[in-house]
Formats: sequence, structure tokens, C-alpha cells
Amino acid sequence: MNTKTNSEKEIKAFMSGLKRRNPGEKEFHQAVHEVVETLLPFTAEHTKYRDGYILERMTEPDRIITFRVTWEDDAGQIHADRAWRVQFNNAIGPYKGGLRFHPTVTQSVLKFLGFEQVLKNSLTGLPMGGAKGGSNFNPKGRSDREIMRFCQSMMIELHRHIGEDVDVPAGDINVGAREISYLFGTYKRLENRFAGILTGKGLAFGGSLVRKEATGYGAVYFMQNMLNHANDEVKGKTALVSGSGNVALYCMEKLLHLGAKVLTASDSSGFIHDPKGIDREKLDWLIDLKENRRGRISEYAEKFGCEFHEGKTPWGVKADLAFPCATQNELHEVDAQALVKNGCIAIAEGANMPSTAEAIEVFLQNDVLFGPAKAANAGGVAVSGLEQSQNQLRISWSREEVDDRLKKIMENIHSKCVQYGTREGKPVDYKSGANIAGFVKVADAMLAYGVV
Ligand code: GLU
Repeated sequence: MNTKTNSEKEIKAFMSGLKRRNPGEKEFHQAVHEVVETLLPFTAEHTKYRDGYILERMTEPDRIITFRVTWEDDAGQIHADRAWRVQFNNAIGPYKGGLRFHPTVTQSVLKFLGFEQVLKNSLTGLPMGGAKGGSNFNPKGRSDREIMRFCQSMMIELHRHIGEDVDVPAGDINVGAREISYLFGTYKRLENRFAGILTGKGLAFGGSLVRKEATGYGAVYFMQNMLNHANDEVKGKTALVSGSGNVALYCMEKLLHLGAKVLTASDSSGFIHDPKGIDREKLDWLIDLKENRRGRISEYAEKFGCEFHEGKTPWGVKADLAFPCATQNELHEVDAQALVKNGCIAIAEGANMPSTAEAIEVFLQNDVLFGPAKAANAGGVAVSGLEQSQNQLRISWSREEVDDRLKKIMENIHSKCVQYGTREGKPVDYKSGANIAGFVKVADAMLAYGVV
């Protein structure tokens, strides 16, 4: 039997065991499949990892904490939502990863995110393990006070499981500065200690400059590294961005800094197409719309007189670069085909697992540079790691200092992907490169600890 069929069989066997142990968790299956596809052939050659049962151990979370969050809305109605903290792996540092509030949050989604976070955090080179948490609570349309009560109730349970050397949550979808502040205030009250137990904090109480911008900036720095490696540059390119949250907005900002033209933005209601480009003034308006007024993206089209495509995603628009920055599985096979047909040369994933497995295959088959999430969006958690360092040192670095470190980290991540993903006569396979580079550090630590 040839090696290819052999490893296909091994992948199938591994996945059928994983599916049996984790029934119905399709997002988790998808994230693991994408990784073991690369790693089983790798561990077959580097047998210490296979003999140490590392992949089996690494795909089983250390622990999952599930709890009820009871809260009362403004009308006096009582709600009981479900929350989780998935502490996936702390081989190379305290658990680290965001909290997501969204009705689509399930244990499967948080396990996929936690698993990805382990490899992503490893890639940053910083001492951070991987975790993820959140709730199926839907914050849409809720008042500030309702959000506050939800966060307070959540922390009443969560505070027992976190700590600066144990587990340090941060934000993710629908968890930003406001939510982190409510969570931090409640922790401080419950524990009577002021410590860096969350990242993404306000600047007045231990937050880091550039944390808010870091994921979006990092995705563009990663793109810049990919293009430079292929003797090209971001300047003068047209770009599609999906989403209009924290990641998308600051991805757009960095694209503007580097001289690209941003054509699109979206939210769950649809996307706007602005052929003239979202310039500085329009972006400021959009940031205010999304961060302060919490409005809908269609208002941009009304304000600036461009098209709004209800219920659609931007991947059919012609452009050089694409940045999926909204959510998981937002870019399908047909979208990838449309991007390729329209001459798109590179993708950097700002969101977590935004491209389906079939879409990634289209990019790789067509030699499109594909920057996978765990490499391209690692800038956010990297600056969270820098926030932790500043908290431990009790100092604050300047904007330039943090941004320079972020740039250097993204450059290092790119180099590691190149080290493991270079192919004869083809563009770098960043997907495999990121998976292997992220894996090796965690796996070596696990081997060193023995059978625990
Ligand atoms: N939620 C972000 C991510 O997906 C950031 C996590 C963090 O800063 O801990 O990486």
C-alpha cells in the first residue's frame, strides 16, 4: 500500500474514534480533521509523537466547566443561560483564550475554538496554553444594564476557575471592552484582589495599548509577510473584508495605512459594496456606528450612497485580497471558486475557521496564498500575552513598543509556517506549516512531562 492511502486510512480511523467520543460536535470534528490531516503524516515520520499518543491526548480537553447563568432582564423576566469554560491544554502556559456570547455557542463550537487556540497560542512564541469559553446568551438588543447583570452573574461562577497563573480569559464575538470591564469589576469585588486575570481591559485598569486593534492589524501584517515572501506587496491592492466587529474594523484600518483599497464590510444582515473604497472618514463613521451606536451595516449604504446586499456575503466581488473576519464557516467552496475566478491572490483569515475544508482545498489547488486563522489571527492573543507581561511587570508599554512587538511576532509566525510549509515549485502551504509549527512546541512539552 502506498503512503498516501496509508495515511488516509489512519486519518479515517482517528476521526471515527474522535467522532464516537464526541458525538454530534461537527465544528469540533471539522477543526480536528483539518489538523490531523497534516499531523498524522508528520507523526508517522516523527514516531516519538505517535508513540507518546500525543494527538489523542491533545484532542481531549483537560477539562470542561459547564454552568448556569441566571439573570433578570429590565422587565423583571428571569433567564437561565448556559455557559462554559473549555480548558483545553496548559502544557506551555496558563490557559488563555476568549469568551464568546452568541446564540450559536455550543460545547462543540467552544471545543473547536479551544483546540485551535492551543496551536495558535503556541505559534505566538509566548507562554500561553489554550482555552475558550462563553455562553449561548444573545446580547443583541439588550440594554447596558442587562449586559452588566449577565456578566456579573457569569463571573460569580467563573471566578473560581480563573487566575493570572491559571486561566486568563479575554474577549471574542460580542465580548469587548464593556463586557470585560463588567467581568473584571465583579472578579475584583469577589476576590478582593487586583490582578491581570482578564485581558482586553480598559487602559485605566491594566489594559494594553493596541490590544483592540491587534487581531485586525495582525491579519494584515501576516498578509504583508505572505505577499513580501512572494515578491509582492499590500500597497495598491483591492481588498474584501467581511464582518464589522473588532477584527474587521482594525483590519480595514491597517489596510488603509498600507495603501490598499477596502471595498466591502458586512454584518449578519448582509454586506455593503463601496467601489470608491472605505476611506478614513467613512471608516471613522463605521467604527462609531458599530462600537458606540451598535447600528446595522445597511446604514452605511444609506449614508454613503452605495449598494447593500441583504443576506449575502462579499465573496462574489472582484478584488485582489480577501479577509474573512466575521465568523466560522462563512466562506464556502462556491465562494472560494468565485474568488479564484475573479483573480484573488491571497486570503488571510481574521475570524476563527471562516473557510470550510472544501473552500481551503480550492485555494490550495489554485495556488492562492492561504493564511489560516491560527497563524493570521494570532495577533489578538499575542497582544493579550503582552498585556499579561505588562500586568506582571506593573508597567505599560507605549503604542509603538506594543505595535513593534506585534509586527515581530507576526513575522516570526510567518517564518515558522515557511519553515514547515515550503513545497517544491509551489507556493508555501501555510495551513500545514501552521499546524506543524504550533503542534511541535506543545507536543515536546507534553512528552517532557511524561505520562500525565
Ligand atoms: N478571542 C481571540 C482569539 O480568538 C483572543 C483571545 C485572547 O486574547 O485571549 O484568539
